[in-house]
Amino acid sequence: MTGPATDARGAAVRIIRELGRAGHTAYLAGGCVRDAQLGVEPKDYDVATEARPEVVRSVFKRSQYVGEAFGVVLVYINGHAIEVATFRSEWGYEDGRRPSGVEFTDAQHDAQRRDFTINGLFADPLGDDGEPNADGKDRIIDFVGGRLDLQDRVLRAIGKPDERFAEDYLRMLRAARFAARLGFTIDPETAEAIRVSAKHLGKISRERIGQEVMLMLTGPMPALAAGLIQSLELDGTTFNEDHDDVALPTLGALPAGSSYALSLAAWMLDRHGASGSLDAAAVFADEQAWPVLRGWRKALCLSNDDRAGLADALSLLKRAHGWSALGVAKRKRLLARPGWAGALALIRAVEPDGLFQVIEAQAQPLIAQGVEPKPWVTGDDLIGMGLKPGPGIGRLLDRVYDAQLDGRVSSRDEALAWAKGRL
Ligand code: ATP
Ligand code: MG
Repeated sequence: MTGPATDARGAAVRIIRELGRAGHTAYLAGGCVRDAQLGVEPKDYDVATEARPEVVRSVFKRSQYVGEAFGVVLVYINGHAIEVATFRSEWGYEDGRRPSGVEFTDAQHDAQRRDFTINGLFADPLGDDGEPNADGKDRIIDFVGGRLDLQDRVLRAIGKPDERFAEDYLRMLRAARFAARLGFTIDPETAEAIRVSAKHLGKISRERIGQEVMLMLTGPMPALAAGLIQSLELDGTTFNEDHDDVALPTLGALPAGSSYALSLAAWMLDRHGASGSLDAAAVFADEQAWPVLRGWRKALCLSNDDRAGLADALSLLKRAHGWSALGVAKRKRLLARPGWAGALALIRAVEPDGLFQVIEAQAQPLIAQGVEPKPWVTGDDLIGMGLKPGPGIGRLLDRVYDAQLDGRVSSRDEALAWAKGRL
């Protein structure tokens, strides 16, 4: 599974060559063909073949079934694990609508069961002699018009869009994801079918919905993807909220590569009328965020970490809103919080002038002093002074640490004396 992607391609081509020698048609399939045609490095390489799974297993000793019902075999070769799927006439839908058995078929029918034309291409890397083409050029096999759509930069469902979405409503979110990531337009008929079927998205499991949203918000164009979700009217069922195609200034202003939790926080502010001013965002975080957060957690099946990250970003934003009233110790404690860098990015996205600038300027010298110095006084010190173990120790430790952060004491000896005076 390691090594540069070009090696992964080499491994996939070797599999195709071996299968060819054993008399079976096999091609590169799906996303890797699309990406290579676009000049993008594919994430992984999938192989599709006419050979039955048991034949694939017998050709490659180092292999295992991963989706036996769907005819998928994982082949280990040259340190890579490559999925080899037998041409099939059904795709694997989840949520209780999984076809009970899978019918194996030919390349054309396999292509026609895929979701979008640009995902329905095959590539044959071998020449007539069964060896890889010397120039490394593949022969593209296109049963669905994918090549033209790649040229025109159009995302289009294969076959009748409404029927294809009814087979697996998740494809509606996948449409938004691919269109955003590639910067493609969605063919009008496909887009219209999504709007008409959008209300059915809730029939898909929340895990799958959340997974797609996560891929979109951590992908290269999060605000574009979110905008598409809204304009395709998928937002209502995605969040279990009313449809609302709001502007996305906060999400759009977050730095590239922001975390899923932070992107969700930004989108939440935009969707709930709390963007544009830090005052509005802080009021939302203080008074309205928690029920919304609970709803999103359920709707997107958020992990504990993502939920906590989202809650943290909002509560840090709220705290930072009161920055001017905080003393030095409280400011330092805030600057030392693990989610602070993200929260500051969020604050800047909400309102780049104003308080963000103030915080940035005033935080500099505090950070230079160190916002999280080692405490001069420890619990053992206080016990050594005769204090009984208990909550009183914690409180006093907090106060003496505040004095240290504030600069009211400037050495361990001063800190010990300060504590002694307050026993
Ligand atoms: P990525 O680079 O994001 O992995 P991909 O195109 O490889 O993109 P996958 O989800 O890995 O997408 O799926 C591989 C291929 O399987 C797709 O290109 C498509 O042909 C097909 N496919 C995947 N999911 C579905 C689905 N729900 N319905 C129909 N075809 C699908
Ligand atoms: Mg893939």
